[in-house]
Amino acid sequence: MLSELSRDQLTELHGSLRAGYDELRGRGLSLDLTRGKPSAQQLDLSNGLLELPGPGVYRDAAGTDLRNYGGLTGLPELRAIFGELLNLDPGLLVAANNSSLAVMHDSLVFSLLHGPVGAERPWKDQPVTFLCPTPGYDRHFALTDSLGIRMVPVGIGPDGPDVDEIARLVADDPSVKGLWAVPTYANPTGAVYTPEVVRALVSMPTAAPDFRILWDNAYALHHLTDREITPVDVLGLAAEAGHPDRVFGYASTSKITFAGGGVAFFAASKANLDWYLAHLGKRTIGPDKINQLRHVLFFGDAEGVRSLMRRHRGLIAEKFAVVDRVLSERLGEHGVAHWTEPEGGYFISLDVADHTATRVVALCKEAGIAMTPAGSAFPYGRDPRDRNIRIAPTFPPLDQVAAAIDGLATCVLLAAVEARLAGDGQDA
Ligand code: PMP
Repeated sequence: MLSELSRDQLTELHGSLRAGYDELRGRGLSLDLTRGKPSAQQLDLSNGLLELPGPGVYRDAAGTDLRNYGGLTGLPELRAIFGELLNLDPGLLVAANNSSLAVMHDSLVFSLLHGPVGAERPWKDQPVTFLCPTPGYDRHFALTDSLGIRMVPVGIGPDGPDVDEIARLVADDPSVKGLWAVPTYANPTGAVYTPEVVRALVSMPTAAPDFRILWDNAYALHHLTDREITPVDVLGLAAEAGHPDRVFGYASTSKITFAGGGVAFFAASKANLDWYLAHLGKRTIGPDKINQLRHVLFFGDAEGVRSLMRRHRGLIAEKFAVVDRVLSERLGEHGVAHWTEPEGGYFISLDVADHTATRVVALCKEAGIAMTPAGSAFPYGRDPRDRNIRIAPTFPPLDQVAAAIDGLATCVLLAAVEARLAGDGQDA
């Protein structure tokens, strides 16, 4: 344990770590663990899409010509497949274009300009605050910030966000209009919201009549183990709790088929969907239904999606395992870092010694290892303890993941020892 070392021992360790780091820097690496992107091998799993729908194929099961305008709600066959997978009524699910982030953007902009169902006035005409389980998804926070919405961080554990803290914050303050939620294998902690947490979130009294949970189930199907958990029926629970309109649900096939050429979904109560479609209908005459047809033909049915996800798992589970193994081997005995062991999703969340994450990322950069900037997973980029680093291991080949994590571990240790020496061995 680093905390048990004397100053002399720390100085000696610093010398050997510095030599190890200089050697690492001398290797001229160029490794990148920054973004949660599928690897080329993963994308290859869906190359069948490139041949579809095929010559002369452009009608849905009802015979509609999908080449033309219209069909704002998306292809019924695709909604049926994802309704089954996401455990919700396909009638409450709309299939859109390629990006769920764009659907999130639209639903928030519509809320700002027009007010959502149940609003007293448009959000733009009042102060709006969103609660942000932290660490969370940087693009959620960037979007929220860009729309002028105030962000308040709330804690998150392995079972989901701190419901007591959230209940307290929503109870008194009518400006609290939103809660970001990534309920399955959260980005970046891997948290999986338990049914109890979900029940509490959809039931709690809120000062705002138009409070929304932004339910981003981006990783609902992205299991890394045999345990293929079923998504919680959040819309059903919200309706049961007397708050049917509380949830805006989102998902996409970005990490199922092609990250840039998939299909996104919006799920919500009938009243919310009518509201959303009324505004969406001003923005577009309909989505790319040919791409939706291509996906229906490629998947076949819900089981087709599940089996594709198992093939993804076959390609990426070992990358997650190698991260855990190298971090354990290199850092385990020193007591300077903790990291998550997710059962799904795309990320590992690493907490290093307090006030060293920025230094670790800078050391990595100098050694040719690109990490997401420290603080990215926090509203306004502010990590109060400067300790969190997000690891995204899916994109690089396995040997590069191992090399990058080994280098990262050197930087974590070096920064921790530097901090202890600078603090005279106290509280690194
Ligand atoms: N939500 C989360 C939690 C994500 O991690 C990502 C991708 N990194 C997205 C949404 C982006 O989704 P899409 O590609 O559908 O816009």
